[in-house]
Amino acid sequence: MIIQPKIRGFICTTAHPEGCKKAVEEQVNYVKSKGAFSGPKNVLVIGASTGYGLASRIVATFGAGAKTIGVFFEKEADEKRTASPGWYNSAAFEQLAHQHHYYAKSLNGDAFSKEMKERAADLIRRDMKQVDLIVYSLASPRRVHPETGHAFSSTLKPIGKSFTGKTIDAFRGEVKEVTIEPATEEEVANTVAVMGGEDWEMWIDFLAKEKLLAEGVKTVAYSYLGPELTHAIYKEGTIGKAKEHLKMTADKLSQKLKNLQGEAVVSVDKAVVTQASAAIPVVPLYISLLFKIMKEKGTHEGCIEQIYRLFKDHLYASHPPARDAEGYIRIDDLEMDPEVQQQIAELWPRITTENLAQLTDVKGYCDDFYRLFGFNLEGVDYNAEVDPVVKIGSINTDAVTDR
Ligand code: NAD
Repeated sequence: MIIQPKIRGFICTTAHPEGCKKAVEEQVNYVKSKGAFSGPKNVLVIGASTGYGLASRIVATFGAGAKTIGVFFEKEADEKRTASPGWYNSAAFEQLAHQHHYYAKSLNGDAFSKEMKERAADLIRRDMKQVDLIVYSLASPRRVHPETGHAFSSTLKPIGKSFTGKTIDAFRGEVKEVTIEPATEEEVANTVAVMGGEDWEMWIDFLAKEKLLAEGVKTVAYSYLGPELTHAIYKEGTIGKAKEHLKMTADKLSQKLKNLQGEAVVSVDKAVVTQASAAIPVVPLYISLLFKIMKEKGTHEGCIEQIYRLFKDHLYASHPPARDAEGYIRIDDLEMDPEVQQQIAELWPRITTENLAQLTDVKGYCDDFYRLFGFNLEGVDYNAEVDPVVKIGSINTDAVTDR
């Protein structure tokens, strides 16, 4: 099959196995070039196949030499469709990890379910005995509650009043105005149910009950705060409410983990191009402008650079980790640099369709978006026939419900 990108709105419906492999290799090479550090030994990554979760798995393995179990919800290829990029990424990751003699096993299915927690627990018990780090990096539009069977959908809406602002259709190069009506109370609650901390707490409670948490265990989840410009839609919107809940959960989990000298923490990460962030109004335009300014300053980072810093300089630093007044780890420090934000605030009102390419790095945004799906990688021949069917070494494909 010759695989080309097929963009539909803010997703791409195809993915390229060789390109995804190349992108994973690049991240692995970055970590290897930065060097090893003393870190976790047995790691569970929930949401391990793309974005910040994949970067966490790569840093844990190739930076700290850890064994990893990765949980994700991805689609294998069939006669009509390529696999999802997270599937190809995970196949490539496992292959590379095994080549370097690192333990890496993956579980594909719904992390919100009880069954997935039990399967992960069985694997930990058998192969690791206990975990000393759990990374919680899910981004999902939907969650079926494991006890009630109720299906919740998350929304990306402002709260209290409608929001009107600029956004882009990045692939058409058009700047548009968008108005988003405020969320209902139910929509806020549903978003908290999907993207808040309830499921994270269920994972930790379950693993604790099964005695699978090591002394000194750490667990980390990811959040975003961002500048004023995105507050109505992010920090003060439905997703922001979910992230507040995530932080409250971290504080609660830290209390629960005290008996193991463990801790739960939320790291605030930088805005990057992932499948999750592409779906948020306003954010892709903000990212395009941010990239331009950070690239010019030489401070631009993607997931892998961020997570390497998180592990080495914060989670596993020899000195006591720096936290902000609310207890967050801030690896969005370079994004939130007042000079960067000042420039953004000045340029934002001036951006139009006509000057988009000049004032922002919309090209870099689109390029990163294509790369998420394994396209636009140097050294990959996109006109060559490629087999879309790729197996993930450790996955028994019959075992779990597929998406
Ligand atoms: P992503 O879309 O790249 O990755 C999401 C992961 O979750 C994938 O591995 C996917 O397979 C998995 N997943 C989704 N639903 C699942 C389910 N039901 N069961 C099992 N796995 C499931 O997302 P991302 O952008 O890396 O986001 C990860 C976290 O980082 C989120 O909490 C997000 O809010 C946060 N974050 C993202 C950004 C950003 O700019 N992208 C910035 C700061 C923080």
